[in-house]
Amino acid sequence: MKTVTILVPAYNEEAVLGQLYDRLKIVMNGIPSYNFELLFVNDGSQDNTLSIIKSMRMRDERVSYVDLSRNFGKEIAMIAGLDHAAGDAVIIIDADLQDPPELIPEMIYYWEQGYDDVYAKRKSRTGETWLKKWTSSAYYKVLQKMTRIPIQENTGDFRLLDRRCVEALKQLREAQRYTKGMFSWIGYNKKEILFDRDPRAAGETKWNYGKLMDLAIEGITSFTTTPLRLSALFGCVISFFAFMFMIWIIVKTLLIGDPVAGYPSLMTIILFLGGIQLISLGIIGEYLGRIFNETKNRPLYFVDEYNNERALNQENHK
Ligand code: UDP
Ligand code: MG
Repeated sequence: MKTVTILVPAYNEEAVLGQLYDRLKIVMNGIPSYNFELLFVNDGSQDNTLSIIKSMRMRDERVSYVDLSRNFGKEIAMIAGLDHAAGDAVIIIDADLQDPPELIPEMIYYWEQGYDDVYAKRKSRTGETWLKKWTSSAYYKVLQKMTRIPIQENTGDFRLLDRRCVEALKQLREAQRYTKGMFSWIGYNKKEILFDRDPRAAGETKWNYGKLMDLAIEGITSFTTTPLRLSALFGCVISFFAFMFMIWIIVKTLLIGDPVAGYPSLMTIILFLGGIQLISLGIIGEYLGRIFNETKNRPLYFVDEYNNERALNQENHK
């Protein structure tokens, strides 16, 4: 019998775990043809998340958990989960019930049809502000323009991955992760299914605009070097105009002479160029910072406990 792992990254989710478990249990019991593993990754929660997970494990042997040594963020929590998942397929689902567990049978159905990556695309996004929706759609347009890999819009991490996708993702060990882009990058047979995204069932979102901004920059810098090229292009265009301007000044001086003037134009040009240079430096810095982080080559995370066992972290999770 094949095993399906349901992977739930959880950070301070005590308010929803009960509900989540109840709904997952109904779904799992409805598919008797598979073994299920319900794998929680406790991402350094400060509330009772861990003890709730442990008590679930006492009642239900399908539950297992990885407890990380501190809060590493969802992207790292997911790779920690993938490293520990035992299933022939892994379904990644948010703890807050924004991803309806009732979609799981459909995902498994398409997996049986031979698809490797069945991802759920949101038809609607209830409970999110228009500003968030608008910035998100504008961002995807820009990102898509800059990279050749198709990146799915309105798609989160809620998806079923075949074992070979999981093994592929496990080989991408970069520290600054943009998992959403990685799903596209690895390729394989993808299948889209549509759903209505619900508002969070309880508790609070851990995302704010600062974090979203980080993720957005992450997305661009980890999947494309177009910004670097853009700054070079900008430099060329500006140099070209500067050159034409120089010729124009020489000709003008020769023909009609040049009474000294032009402080305002000089100032504008200097300030404008200064701005462009700083922006370009910033872009280079952004990539340089990533190089710095990756060269340290640290393990992505440390495990505190895995299924009631204290982790010694001697092996490298690769
Ligand atoms: N999460 C996590 N570590 C974090 C932040 C979030 O594991 O540092 C988990 C969280 O418990 C939830 C999922 O990632 O299962 C999505 O988080 P959230 O609902 O806060 O994000 P949103 O749905 O608002 O994008
Ligand atoms: Mg959420």
